[in-house]
Amino acid sequence: MTDSDRLTELATRRGFYFPAAGAYGGVAGFYTYGPQGAALKRNLESAWRDRFLTREGHMEVDGPTVMPEPVFEASGHLDGFDDMILECPECGASHRADHLVEDNTDIADAEALGTERVAQVIAEHDLDCPICGAVLAGESVAAFNLMFGTNIGPGSSAPGYLRPETAQAIFVEFPRLAEYARNQLPFGVGQIGKAYRNEISPRRGLVRVREFTQAELEHFVHPEGAPPDLSGVAEVSLSLYPIDDQEAATTEHVETTVSEALEDGVIGSPWVAYYLGIAKEWYERIGVDMDRFRFRQHLPGERAHYAVDCWDAEAELGSNWIEIAGFSTRGTYDLSRHAEHSGESMTVFEPYEEPRTTERPAVDPDMSYLGPEFGDRAPAVVEALEQRAASEPEAFDGEEIEIAIDGESHSIPVPITGFEIVEETISGEHVTPEVIEPSFGVDRVFATVFEHAFRRDSVEGEERTYLAFPPELAPTFVGVFPLMDKDGMDERAKEIADALRERGFAVEYDSSGSIGRRYRRQDEIGTPVCLTVDYESVEGDGSVTLRDRDSATQSRVPAGKGLDPLLDALTDLRAGRQTVAEIDAGLRSGAVAGSDEPIDSEAE
Ligand code: AMP
Repeated sequence: MTDSDRLTELATRRGFYFPAAGAYGGVAGFYTYGPQGAALKRNLESAWRDRFLTREGHMEVDGPTVMPEPVFEASGHLDGFDDMILECPECGASHRADHLVEDNTDIADAEALGTERVAQVIAEHDLDCPICGAVLAGESVAAFNLMFGTNIGPGSSAPGYLRPETAQAIFVEFPRLAEYARNQLPFGVGQIGKAYRNEISPRRGLVRVREFTQAELEHFVHPEGAPPDLSGVAEVSLSLYPIDDQEAATTEHVETTVSEALEDGVIGSPWVAYYLGIAKEWYERIGVDMDRFRFRQHLPGERAHYAVDCWDAEAELGSNWIEIAGFSTRGTYDLSRHAEHSGESMTVFEPYEEPRTTERPAVDPDMSYLGPEFGDRAPAVVEALEQRAASEPEAFDGEEIEIAIDGESHSIPVPITGFEIVEETISGEHVTPEVIEPSFGVDRVFATVFEHAFRRDSVEGEERTYLAFPPELAPTFVGVFPLMDKDGMDERAKEIADALRERGFAVEYDSSGSIGRRYRRQDEIGTPVCLTVDYESVEGDGSVTLRDRDSATQSRVPAGKGLDPLLDALTDLRAGRQTVAEIDAGLRSGAVAGSDEPIDSEAE
């Protein structure tokens, strides 16, 4: 059994995730998170919210997953959100044509080649159907739109789509969101929610699915605004895989820091550098293995046409580097498109420090002259005069001015145009903000944390499997066991479990099987600590056994009358303020101070 098989088996057996609708044979690209998985995912989302929204002072919204067609006409998804599809002539299987090329040739970014060239490459390399082996040369490669379509309400007059990214639900609400931000740039709006893509070939478990969760932040900044304060991230180390190195086909990474990468011009945008720094620290906090993590710069062909500099966070899963987040500069593209298509203003009014007075040529024509003279063409004359005043004010210097209406020239007496230079005081300007977007795929982060936490070792000669989740993320935080279901041990264990739950900890109470087996069960789901209640707990000094997942060591800690020191210590552990060894030492030194008998730690 490979580690990858072990992980899939563990994910299903212990309730992390499994293919959805199994009773009906399953449906490709859809997964259900079981009890442990749903809790782990929720904790991941909380950690993201904490770092990217709460600590940055950004807002959070929760928009609909179905939106009307005009939204996606404006965003460009209706026309351009396509993947390349190729259908096998023998077995009918649909394939991502660009993936066939990438998997079987040394071309790294086949999507950039376009459908026709990809079809040629498939023929040139004599590629076969990976399912049935049929020859694929000569088969056409087409563009397939990834959006799931639906109808809003009965009938088909109002087509809608399941959103392919959460971002659009933020952009379309920009006018209101800007008001909530008191029209002051910069401000950020985030959203954690479902996105849907009708992937041609879902694969690699949670990595490429058809329904997934995104955590996206749209940071709206003034195009000429101040760069971010980099002092908090300047020294954060980054492992980068820039364009040059990818093109030179080296697999070495540039080890640098946020400030060095900016100074050397490896990263172009200070905002992108800022978020790479924050993200790096966040990934470390949630247990991503930094030896299997890098930031890869988009190759020119991969970048959206409006994007200036884009980087992906990539994690090694199995032996593949997988994109788990994207960091891009989207410019003013989205807001400008929505302004154009909706007719709403997607700008922020930026007041000047001091109001500015300017002079402007203007006309105020005498309609009692133009009306009788030009009839229903009078408005066109007014418009022509206005344009002329703006573009060529000196034309109003003479007695008469020539204008052309529908190709016909007319002389208008200047006195009836009401031409004058007016003074105007302008207090500010309307600015379309630029957008910096860190976009995370929660399911891919989940898959990474799950795989990178997977450990195998042996305890007292017995093989064990455990998930070394950071305490903050662990879906079950503490296991509570009575040594036996009798003599008051069960009651005391239940009291302790209740007190822990009241503190908001996820507790699993388990009284079945040997204590060793119960520890193994918790190890498998990544529970950082377990507490065992034995005779000493009910008849002796009230202490309980504290057992550490990673070292598999046990020690006795006080849990007598007042449980507060234990609960406080566990709160510190979950918040990452202390390790198990530290809380253990702290609790025991407290106990030693109040007792004659020191309590020793022991191996399991
Ligand atoms: P994109 O808009 O394509 O850059 O996607 C943003 C993020 O969403 C990516 O970095 C992935 O983590 C995630 N993502 C995109 N497509 C899928 C998918 N089919 N399944 C799971 N996650 C995805």
